[in-house]
Amino acid sequence: AKDEGGGEHCVFEPELHAMAEERRQLETSLRHALEREEFKINLQPVVDANSEAVVSFEALLRWHSPEHGFVSPAKFIPLAEDTGLVVPIGAWVLEEACRQAATWPVDAKVAVNVSAEQLMESDFAETVVRALDLSKLPPRRLEVEVTESVFVRDGHIAKATLEEILALGCSIALDDFGTGYSSLGYLRELPFSTIKVDRSFVQGASQGSRESLAIINAVVAMASSLEMSTTAEGVETPAEAKMIRDLGCTKIQGYYYGRPMPVDEARALLANPRSL
Ligand code: C2E
Ligand code: CA
Ligand code: CA
Ligand code: CA
Repeated sequence: AKDEGGGEHCVFEPELHAMAEERRQLETSLRHALEREEFKINLQPVVDANSEAVVSFEALLRWHSPEHGFVSPAKFIPLAEDTGLVVPIGAWVLEEACRQAATWPVDAKVAVNVSAEQLMESDFAETVVRALDLSKLPPRRLEVEVTESVFVRDGHIAKATLEEILALGCSIALDDFGTGYSSLGYLRELPFSTIKVDRSFVQGASQGSRESLAIINAVVAMASSLEMSTTAEGVETPAEAKMIRDLGCTKIQGYYYGRPMPVDEARALLANPRSL
């Protein structure tokens, strides 16, 4: 129905215009953010559900723009994906994450989020090799996190790239499981080391949703028979941590065990685990 009730649109036009303008300005700033060194990574601990020892850190990108202040990744990552800027920015995240992990006093893994757009680049595996070489980080200490969305469009390319990453000795986690594209078929695509159960299920279950609880239960059982581990995301309270442990999730990530923190704090936490 094109242009039906067209008059109504006028009400929103200035607003739409303002949003498009904001996006344009954000994009201009994003184009220069890398060279202007406006990015840093924060690291969020992931703990073993039973021992509560830190087993890995997830690298989460942070952008402080002089023009826009702190911009949430939920806002600038989609923009970076649409503009292709996620390719050089993502390469920087990989290098920085590996560089940090190589300075840690213990053998914990570092997990890096990778977008579909990065996997579509024919030289993505070389980007990973370079990050590992520069940092001297053993490949087994790098985990790549992808969402099911990477298998949707050009899924065979993403799969081939991820197979190269596996061949290097890195591991792959399936992020945000249960949201968006969910099809159990994706679990057949690759030998994921970990399935990350989305925070919405943790929240749901802790608010008494029997459906969420049943889904977490089923994912844990399925992961275990596929010899994959499970990480529950977004665990914020001791009660949620207990529930998740009782459900048999392997690992836990969330504010209860630690927020995304500056890289120096992460290193200190590994050196002195009791400070958690
Ligand atoms: P994600 O990969 O699912 O990362 C987890 C998000 O949940 C992070 O948000 C983290 O700060 C937040 N979180 C962790 N624990 C809790 C909790 O207990 N409660 C709540 N409410 N939130 C929690 P963040 O850092 O804002 O990142 C948002 C998303 O942006 C990420 O979701 C990821 O999809 C994307 N992202 C972040 N860094 C990168 C990156 O370097 N590359 C790419 N491609 N995407 C990234
Ligand atoms: Ca992630
Ligand atoms: Ca996630
Ligand atoms: Ca996400």
